[in-house]
This record gives sequence, C-alpha cells and structure tokens, in this order.
Amino acid sequence: MKRREEMNFLERLYVIEVAKGVSQTSLDLIKHLFTYLAQVVGLMKSSKPWATIEYPDEARGYAERYRGRHRLTLNEDGSMRCTACFLCATACPANCIYIEAAEHEDKDIEKFPDRYEIDTLLCVYCGYCVEACPVDAIRMDTGIHPEIYPADPRAFIEDKHTLMVRSQKLTQEGPDALFKAHMEKLRQIERDPFNAPE
Ligand code: SF4
Ligand code: SF4
Repeated sequence: MKRREEMNFLERLYVIEVAKGVSQTSLDLIKHLFTYLAQVVGLMKSSKPWATIEYPDEARGYAERYRGRHRLTLNEDGSMRCTACFLCATACPANCIYIEAAEHEDKDIEKFPDRYEIDTLLCVYCGYCVEACPVDAIRMDTGIHPEIYPADPRAFIEDKHTLMVRSQKLTQEGPDALFKAHMEKLRQIERDPFNAPE
C-alpha cells in the first residue's frame, strides 16, 4: 500500500478531520448503546447483553489444543512416568528445563528424575518438550495459561512436586477447579503482592 504523504488543504485545517472522527465515534457509541438496551429488554437475542469478558473473573475458554501449563503425568500407582532421559531438556529452545537423574531403588527401573524443574519465566510455551518426550511423561493440556507467581522470580520455577500435583488435581477435580484455584491465587497476589501464597 502506498501511503499518501501530502494532505490537501481541508485536511491541513484539521477541524474537519477531527469532526469526522468525533462523529464516527459518537455513531458507534449510540449504535452499541442501543444494541445493548435492545438486548437487555429482550428485543434482541444474546447469551449476555455485552461482548466484554470481565477477566479475570471470567475467561474465554481455550481450544483443546491450547498449550497451557505443564504437568508431569503419573502412572496408575501415582509414581511419575518420567524416565529422566533428558530429551525434553535437550529439545527445549529456552534451556529452561533442569533435570537431575538418580538411581531408582527398583532394579528394574534404570533411573528417575530426582530433580525436575521448569523455569516458567524463561519458557516460551512452544511445546517442544511435550513433542520430544518418548513416554508421554510431560503434557501441557491443563487448559490454563501460565501460572502467575509473586514478585520473586525464583517462585516461577516449577518443581517436580508442583508438576505432579497438577496432574493429580486435573484427574481428580478437572480443569475448571484448576482455573478457579488459579484465579483465587491471582486475586490474593493482587491484594498483597509481597505476601502471596505459595
Ligand atoms: S514449552 Fe518449550 S520453552 Fe517451555 S519448557 Fe517446553 S520446550 Fe522449553
Ligand atoms: S519428561 Fe519425558 S523427555 Fe523429559 S526427561 Fe522425562 S521422560 Fe525424558
């Protein structure tokens, strides 16, 4: 598109252009106001008479394939599925997965992650870690956007326990409960950013 560089005489006066802008804004305002009133009194149908989503009290539902918060998946006995193979950490472009492997008590299991941490401040939510995992041990199917933690950046590092508990809660309570807990925490942080819950 070629941008017109020269303004004509009337445009250079500005007054007419300002009046055009004000009239357009006023027309939009009147149109939306009457649409809203028509919906309130039942002359027009709508699930609710406004389009605004009152975030964070309300949230737009995410698509099923949305890459939300991470979780480490569990076996039926509650143990973690991760085999500490390091493929997720290798695939991670942000270098934000830290794993320390350890020998397992069970001789049939070669090793397990003694430490597994994701620095969510560095994470770019690309999902490569999920793609790389050969045993489906890490997922981002929680349907919730990244967690917001208190002002301390160290709080954004999610450890093995946090990632496992998230899987348990998702199975037991469903994504809505996770979202509700997340929003409650967010409100507490808003009220008191320096004494927020863990
Ligand atoms: S989503 Fe991407 S950036 Fe985040 S931990 Fe996984 S691989 Fe790394
Ligand atoms: S989450 Fe998957 S890819 Fe990452 S270390 Fe564990 S088993 Fe390997």
